[in-house]
Amino acid sequence: MRTLQDLGLSEKIPVCVLGATGSVGQRFVSLLAEHPWFDIHALMASDRSAGKSYAEATTWVQSAPLPDSLAAMVVQRCEPREDCPLAFSSLDSSVAGGIESSFAEAGSLVVSNAKNHRMDADVPLIVPEVNPAHLELATRQQHRGTIITNPNCSTIGVVLALKPLFDAFGIEAVSVVTLQAVSGAGLPGVSSLQILGNVLPYIDGEEDKLETESCKILGELTGGSIDFASFKVSAACNRVAVIDGHTFCVSVQLTKEATRDDLLSAWDSFRGEPQELELPSAPTKPVQYLTERVAPQARLHRDLGRGMAVSVGRLRDCPVLDFKFVALSHNTLRGAAGGAMLAAELAIAHGLLPEASR
Ligand code: NAP
Repeated sequence: MRTLQDLGLSEKIPVCVLGATGSVGQRFVSLLAEHPWFDIHALMASDRSAGKSYAEATTWVQSAPLPDSLAAMVVQRCEPREDCPLAFSSLDSSVAGGIESSFAEAGSLVVSNAKNHRMDADVPLIVPEVNPAHLELATRQQHRGTIITNPNCSTIGVVLALKPLFDAFGIEAVSVVTLQAVSGAGLPGVSSLQILGNVLPYIDGEEDKLETESCKILGELTGGSIDFASFKVSAACNRVAVIDGHTFCVSVQLTKEATRDDLLSAWDSFRGEPQELELPSAPTKPVQYLTERVAPQARLHRDLGRGMAVSVGRLRDCPVLDFKFVALSHNTLRGAAGGAMLAAELAIAHGLLPEASR
């Protein structure tokens, strides 16, 4: 694994978490508590939480216990700090845009989960194994610092499963039906009366994000901007009574002819830059094909690769498009905090940490 010494640093990088009290914020806190490069210096949230201890301000729902030192940390307002060159954001989108910009103006590297800056022309929308070259876009930003973004939690899983097929065969069209976990709706999220024993066939804004973000991520960086991939995506998104793990039923039409074995081989050999760079959060195998008849399943497979691998199964012919399969990814790990952590590691390996902190 790449170490701090490999990066030319003698101490861990001080970081702050914006939106630390939410569903994704808690995942950030859990991951950062054990991270070999990063050290939490500040936990930030709204005025409702500022001034309280973290334990008091958040309703902890992670199975790993909250470390005492973090439980006692006093939550702060979201204001830039000189001593934190790196900010992870899991802010509600009603406020994320302006707050993240103010941190970037102040010189921070901001890695965001919120939707606000994802489609900005000079902001990379990064899935580290898929489009690391898009980080180059960030050099066009006018702030002292940099904003990079993590896609929507469903887009990440779907794009990771599609990328090996896109590179090997080209893609003409994708149809995807999602079954999304309740942790994707944040804290406190949807009420138990709405979701128990039920499926909600609508998630605000979700279908549009899957349909547009996928084409930005699989687009090509030419002449300093992204030429979006031209295939069409049709998404239908549903909330289901699962705690963690989004499932995707995908049908795909390919540009070149391919056999079932060709697709399996494309997934099997896929690795990406995070593996080559030996980044701490990189899964050994980003896409894992499962041969069991009833797989992947959210409860059994969402934690594969420490929650950073996408599992795929049930590959078969599609009578409408060419092939269909089922994919699964952990929405608050690979789809949010873990994905953002890996994107930050990649950005740092690409030299995007502010110079003063090195
Ligand atoms: P959440 O549980 O509702 O948490 C939202 C966070 O934003 C809380 O820490 C909240 O602090 C803070 N916040 C709200 N209003 C604020 C204000 N006026 N000023 C400062 N902070 C404020 O949401 P979440 O599910 O963690 O999602 C966070 C972001 O990540 C969203 O933009 C979401 O779309 C995105 N995302 C979520 C997932 C997922 O699986 N959940 C996946 C990918 C992306 P208080 O506790 O003080 O109110």
